Amino acid sequence: ILIHSLKDLLWKVFLSFHLILKKNCIAQLFFECMSLCLVVGLLLTGVAALDSEVSGKIGLRAVIYYFSTTIIAVILGIILVMTIKPGVSQEAENIDRAGTTPNVTTVDTLLDLLRNMFPENLVQACFQQVSHFLHSFHTFPQMLQNILNLFHHHAINITREYKIVGAYSDGINVLGLIVFCVAFGLVIGKMGDKGRILLEFFDALNEATMKLVQIIMCYMPFGILFLIAAKIIEVEDWEIFRKMGLYMVTVLSGLAIHATICLPFIFFIIVRKNPYTFTLGMAQALVTALMISSSSATLPVTFRCAEENNRIDKRITRFVLPVGATINMDGTALYEAVAAIFIAQLNDYPLDVGQIVTISITATVASIGAAGVPNAGLVTMVIVLTAVGLPASDVTLIVAVDWLLDRFRTMINVLGDAYGAGIVQKLSKRELERMDLISDVDVANPF
Ligand code: ASP
Repeated sequence: ILIHSLKDLLWKVFLSFHLILKKNCIAQLFFECMSLCLVVGLLLTGVAALDSEVSGKIGLRAVIYYFSTTIIAVILGIILVMTIKPGVSQEAENIDRAGTTPNVTTVDTLLDLLRNMFPENLVQACFQQVSHFLHSFHTFPQMLQNILNLFHHHAINITREYKIVGAYSDGINVLGLIVFCVAFGLVIGKMGDKGRILLEFFDALNEATMKLVQIIMCYMPFGILFLIAAKIIEVEDWEIFRKMGLYMVTVLSGLAIHATICLPFIFFIIVRKNPYTFTLGMAQALVTALMISSSSATLPVTFRCAEENNRIDKRITRFVLPVGATINMDGTALYEAVAAIFIAQLNDYPLDVGQIVTISITATVASIGAAGVPNAGLVTMVIVLTAVGLPASDVTLIVAVDWLLDRFRTMINVLGDAYGAGIVQKLSKRELERMDLISDVDVANPF
């Protein structure tokens, strides 16, 4: 009884700390708001400093990089899951299949992407997260109930369901903001002296936000400690972890290979600099991604690491990183491919070559369509499953371990974006030099 009460108490304490860092809690909301300031401020000032020809070329290079690395990640994931075969000889029947899943198709994802690019209401696009937050507490009894839920064993499940259903509309509509900021930035850039006042305003906003990020970084290590402790205490059925162990090893080793071999290799071939020094420079952003499982919310730290530690030109990061956080998700793509094949193996469902190719294509689309918010990849997973004829509800088989895998794949998503910025800078050096834009960075030795 004593051990049980102690466990219960610890669970509540750790969960409280955990919730402070979760979606819909003040710290997360704070991060989202700061990302908003940064996305708007940095992108706008960045684009205004480039001319349209240069920004077009940079954009094209970035998109080519995004696609090629995502495909490499998917192929790597497929090779690993076919070799390790984590789902073969596992008993799918023992795993809880309860719960409903949203009916999402490839077309939905692509249309969603398009729709998000042109938000109906720009203000709403900025504050979706806030309005969701306020909405969830809109009456006093409901607020009380929500607070009581924090101390109830089902709190985690309730939030999880909410997140799965809401991931499509949750968070800041970064894609919509990007499209707007690019257009607005180009116009300001062409306004000359008249536009300077706006540029100065956004520059000051960026600086203030960055300073705030530095302060917040101080408490991050404690946050991650409590986050993991709460999750470990919460687990009651250790059996699930044993069954999922091999699957997790497959995903994690795929992510590790992609982060330590594939991406560094591409980086070295193009940039000719030590990729591991570069990764080290991104360490703070990677830890933040690990903790808050959101590439969008990690953006403020990603910017700081890329610009200050790795000395990537600001005009490149401002352009490449926000777009990357939304559409470049190597970790998510790898995970989706592995998870789909794992589920097929659990079900004894044979996959032919055509279906494997379908998985690689849909996993790529699904990763592009996933928002940079926690568990978004789990939702878009449904399109990969339905594309090969697996029941969409089987996504519930992997929900139990997604809290952990999400953190690691977000790390790789963020690392992929950062490497992308380094590579695009190297490839765009000539244009930037020609325009005399690189003034504060050592061009010969940017890293
Ligand atoms: N959490 C991931 C990210 O923000 C997306 C995912 O669920 O895979 O990058």
